[in-house]
Amino acid sequence: MKETLFTVGPVEMFPETLTRGGAQLPYFRTEEFSRIVQECDRDLQALAGAPAGARTAVLTCSGTGAMEATVVNFLAGTDKALILRGGSFGERFCEICADDAIAFDAVEIAPGRALDVGQLEAQNLAGCRALFVNACETSTGALYDLEALGDFCRRHDLYFMVDGISAFLCDPINMEKMGIDALIFSSQKALALPPGLSMIVLSPRLVSRLEGSHPRTHYLGLRRHLADMQRGQTPFTPAVGIILQLHDRLQTLKSIGADASVRRVAALAAHFRNGLGGLPLRIFPERPSNALTALTPLDGSSAYAIYQTLKQKYGLVVTPNGGALRDRVFRVGHMGNIQEHDLDRVLAALQEVMK
Ligand SMILES: *Cc1c(COP(=O)(O)O)cnc(C)c1O
Repeated sequence: MKETLFTVGPVEMFPETLTRGGAQLPYFRTEEFSRIVQECDRDLQALAGAPAGARTAVLTCSGTGAMEATVVNFLAGTDKALILRGGSFGERFCEICADDAIAFDAVEIAPGRALDVGQLEAQNLAGCRALFVNACETSTGALYDLEALGDFCRRHDLYFMVDGISAFLCDPINMEKMGIDALIFSSQKALALPPGLSMIVLSPRLVSRLEGSHPRTHYLGLRRHLADMQRGQTPFTPAVGIILQLHDRLQTLKSIGADASVRRVAALAAHFRNGLGGLPLRIFPERPSNALTALTPLDGSSAYAIYQTLKQKYGLVVTPNGGALRDRVFRVGHMGNIQEHDLDRVLAALQEVMK
């Protein structure tokens, strides 16, 4: 049975991406390839609403590598991180800091709950350099209020580090308007490319913080990456094929722009959520992202069992949860090459499975 992915990465890819993926790769230390990388950089910065003087690092790693890069390149010694922990991706920033010996305070947000920014004002910010947040905490589908968080960072002089991996191109994100210092995103989410490429767009003040800094990591050392990016190159062999697929995708994305991309995903999310009426399902997060809808069964059935039935009986691959939410939550992604009629198939299958 042909499966359709409603996952949160990888997602359904576009035909041009698949075609490109079957083609011979070029050698990459060439002027032609440099030009492609520079065009990607320019277009990605435009989509991110990057401020003048921003710089992009293109890393060949999954999103977690880019998350780690924002910790190890910018925090050292007695610097402390403030981390919003509302699910497994917030937890990941905590684990990264623990492994890299960076002190951190975690702000606990119950899974799926919205953030009360007032809660942050009570934090002891002594020694605190940066706030880390997952714009969309993909494990629960919750979207945090980036505007309010950016304002908080401005008032307390913190670097604002945003893991926008699942929110980029799905929810409104604008580095300049929101005061974001580092914006992370990856190839396998709304860009709908294979996994393996992650980008970090850095604000000018983070770029200057790198100057003269001593990287504690070789592969993820951003100073080296930015130096090479000046001529459209990377220090090590990049995921050449994904960069070419990214370049193709950006031709479409730059012509429609970030706002239209967000509107498209928002319309899919709204279509799906409107179709839930009558089903014994509750939308799990208080403030849902457009990227996905996380759902809790209200009729006592197991979320994991629903995931299994949809996959085995219908070829519809939604995203199961792990850990404590395994039986309580499953997630339906709205990213990538899917349309309303694809989501209608999920709704129809749920009607059958949950009747
Ligand atoms: C997908 C995702 C990541 C990346 O995880 P990897 O498995 O390392 O690619 C990180 N943060 C969020 C919010 C995500 O949705």
